[in-house]
Amino acid sequence: MLMGMKSGKYASLSTEEIVRLDQKHVWHPYAAMPNAVPCYPVQSAHGVHLELTDGRSLVDGMSSWWACIHGYNHEALNDAAIHQISQVSHVMFGGLTHEPAVQLARRLVEVTPPGLEHVFYCDSGSVAIEVAMKMALQYCYNVGQKDKHRFLTIRGGYHGDTFEAMSVCDPVNGMHHLFAKNLPSQIFAPRPESKFDKDEDDKSILQRDVQSVRELLEVNHDEIAAIILEPIVQGAGGMRFYNPAYLTAIRDLCDEHHVLLIADEIATGFGRTGKLFACEHANISPDILCIGKALSGGFLSFAATLTTAKISQKFAQGEAGVFMHGPTFMGNPLACAVSLASLDLLQSYDWESKVQSIENQLKVELEPCRESPLVQDVRVLGAIGVVEMKEAFEMRKVQAAVVNEGVWLRPFGRLLYTMPPFIIQPSELRKITSSMVSIAKRRFR
Ligand SMILES: *Cc1c(COP(=O)(O)O)cnc(C)c1O
Repeated sequence: MLMGMKSGKYASLSTEEIVRLDQKHVWHPYAAMPNAVPCYPVQSAHGVHLELTDGRSLVDGMSSWWACIHGYNHEALNDAAIHQISQVSHVMFGGLTHEPAVQLARRLVEVTPPGLEHVFYCDSGSVAIEVAMKMALQYCYNVGQKDKHRFLTIRGGYHGDTFEAMSVCDPVNGMHHLFAKNLPSQIFAPRPESKFDKDEDDKSILQRDVQSVRELLEVNHDEIAAIILEPIVQGAGGMRFYNPAYLTAIRDLCDEHHVLLIADEIATGFGRTGKLFACEHANISPDILCIGKALSGGFLSFAATLTTAKISQKFAQGEAGVFMHGPTFMGNPLACAVSLASLDLLQSYDWESKVQSIENQLKVELEPCRESPLVQDVRVLGAIGVVEMKEAFEMRKVQAAVVNEGVWLRPFGRLLYTMPPFIIQPSELRKITSSMVSIAKRRFR
């Protein structure tokens, strides 16, 4: 495409005008106004390529924050959306239902860990977390455990930006002190130090990790409705991978102390860690499961909270007689239809070998980062590659440098990381890893 040329009857602004108006009026995620770092306008996207309005093409290493596992503009998702639009794109969910919602729920129950049978549709990941936490609280209330009004979680977590979700994010990098007067106070266990693949020489670290949760439960279980955590991979809170044996032990501790387990698989779900759900690494089922992000293949905002019959059956007899939640756009047919197509697509090919080969390639090609004196750690799990630096990047400089390498990555803090679409080809992935190696060796100060 020519510089600044636009296709279609809707586009009329030049690249410069888009950037100028964007800076003037549009608030971006975790940004200020005016945005200190100008954003890059995207014209279109296909497969793993983002096409900018100025004609540049970037290889996408982010899957738009874990979501676009099949890449962009996939025909199967587009077709599902177009078909559904021709039927109905939205209808209220109170008193009405539709085939996409029913089909998707049945499939989600099939593919998620055993025991989860009921699906509550939500609009976004944060809302799925709100729903999960409210569900746990109302369940405890329904069964007469009225003192159970708090949550236990682990430091270094990220669960979303709404207030209840924020209350279980890491207290330091979630800046809890800013909102202290409005935040519910939760109980925090130390971040697990036991690494994903070091279970043998790591027994004492694992025992210490588990012991600290056990002690908190012994003292506080009467107040704790649920433990909420991200299974195996802590995402936006630091991109760390912990030992599956820790998760297994937590499941046992929850049972022992009559505390529910909420698994936040919003980032890890749908194959990212090499298993369809990260809970499978530890062979456990949570009582409540949150999914989002890749649920719709990144096509639109959609999420869900699943639970067991043991929990759901306690709502009819409770004081309210129902679960007190119901978003306006709940069960959106378009979102359900596209999510169903995304799940079909994922299961139509050998995604496990794809993710495995991405993992193998990331391991080999990110290894040279370790030679850089600026690098603290390099870690890879499934289709996730992380380079942790010793010092934080200067965002403005590092973002421009990444784009100049022809790739799209969004480093934050001390982290340079990639979670590419599963459809990425080895040569495209090599472009991402070689730019990561080159960035990891340079000082952005
Ligand atoms: C992104 C994310 C959320 C929040 O999802 P939103 O759709 O951004 O509200 C919650 N938990 C985890 C683990 C996430 O990665």
